[in-house]
Amino acid sequence: MPGYVLEVEHLKTYYYTYKGIVKAVDDVSFKLKEGESLGIAGESGCGKSTLAYSLLKLVPPPGRIAGGRIVIDGVDVTRMSEAEVRSKVRWKKISMVFQGAMNALNPVYTVGYQLAEPLMYHKGYSKKEALEEAKKYLQLVGLSPEVINRYPHELSGGMKQRVVIAMALILQPKIVIADEPTTALDVVVQAQILNLLKKLQKELGISIILITHDLSIIAELADKVAIMYAGKIVEFGPLEKVFLEPQHPYTQALLRSIPRLRGEKSKLEWIPGTPPDLRNPPLGCRFAPRCRFAMDICRREPPPEIQLAPDHRVLCWLYAKR
Ligand code: SF4
Repeated sequence: MPGYVLEVEHLKTYYYTYKGIVKAVDDVSFKLKEGESLGIAGESGCGKSTLAYSLLKLVPPPGRIAGGRIVIDGVDVTRMSEAEVRSKVRWKKISMVFQGAMNALNPVYTVGYQLAEPLMYHKGYSKKEALEEAKKYLQLVGLSPEVINRYPHELSGGMKQRVVIAMALILQPKIVIADEPTTALDVVVQAQILNLLKKLQKELGISIILITHDLSIIAELADKVAIMYAGKIVEFGPLEKVFLEPQHPYTQALLRSIPRLRGEKSKLEWIPGTPPDLRNPPLGCRFAPRCRFAMDICRREPPPEIQLAPDHRVLCWLYAKR
C-alpha cells in the first residue's frame, strides 16, 4: 500500500498588505498518496496558486505561511530554513510546472543549459554528464535530443511546455505541481500535454497536483478533486464522486455552468455575484452571499467540515446534524 507522500494540515497562507491581511489560503487540509493525482479547481483568486506556492515554500512577499504544517515524504518542511528547503526539498521532492512556459524559460540560455544546471548544482554532475542526462529527459517528454542546442524563442508553445515539464522532472521529484499547464496552448497541443502528463505519471509513479479553473482538464487527469472557494477547500473527494454526485452547492453550481455537447439543450447556468474580499470575508460561510440554499446559520457561523464518506468531505451546513 503506498503511503502518503504529502500531508497538509490546517495550512494558512496570508498576505500582509497595507490595506489589511488577505487570507488567501485559510485552514486547508488534505493528503495525497504516492502516485496519486489531485486536481485543485476554483475561480480565479480562490487561493489555488497560493496553495501551490506554499507547498514549494515560494510564497512571494508580502505573503507568508501563517500556520499549519506541510509534510512532504515524511518531513515537515514548514519547520525548515530556506537553505534546507532549497538543498533538500524544492525540485528534489516537489517541483512545479509554472504557468506560462514562455515566462518560465530564460530567453538568453539554451534549453540544454537550463536543463543541465540543476544536475550540476544539486547532483555534482560534470557539464558533459548533465547534458547527456538532459537529452534523455527531452526524449522522455517527446522532444528530439537536438533541442538541447536551441534557445526558447526557437521553439513552439507546445515544445516550450514540454521543456518546462522536463525541467520539473529532472531531479526525479515525488510530486510535480502543474499550474494551469495548458493555458495559452491550442486544443490539439493541450490534449498532447495532458496525455504526456498522464504517461509520465504512470511511467515514473509521480504524484501530480493539477491546478486549474478548467474542470475538464481535471476530469482527464485527476484521481481526487479539491474544490476551493475563497481560500478554503469546500469539497474534497474522488473524481467520480465529486463530478457525478457533487454535494457542495458551489461544486454543483460550477458543474452546471459547463457547456455540454451531449444531452438535452438547456440554458447555461452561472453563479451570480463575485467571490468575497479575502481581507474581510463573510462571518459565516464564505459562499453564503451567492448560495441558493443559504440559511440563517450560514450567515452567522462558519460551516463545519462534514465527512460524507471516508474519502469524501464538504464544508457546508446542509449536511450537519442539528
Ligand atoms: Fe450554502 Fe450554507 Fe452550505 Fe454555505 S453552508 S454552501 S451558504 S448551504
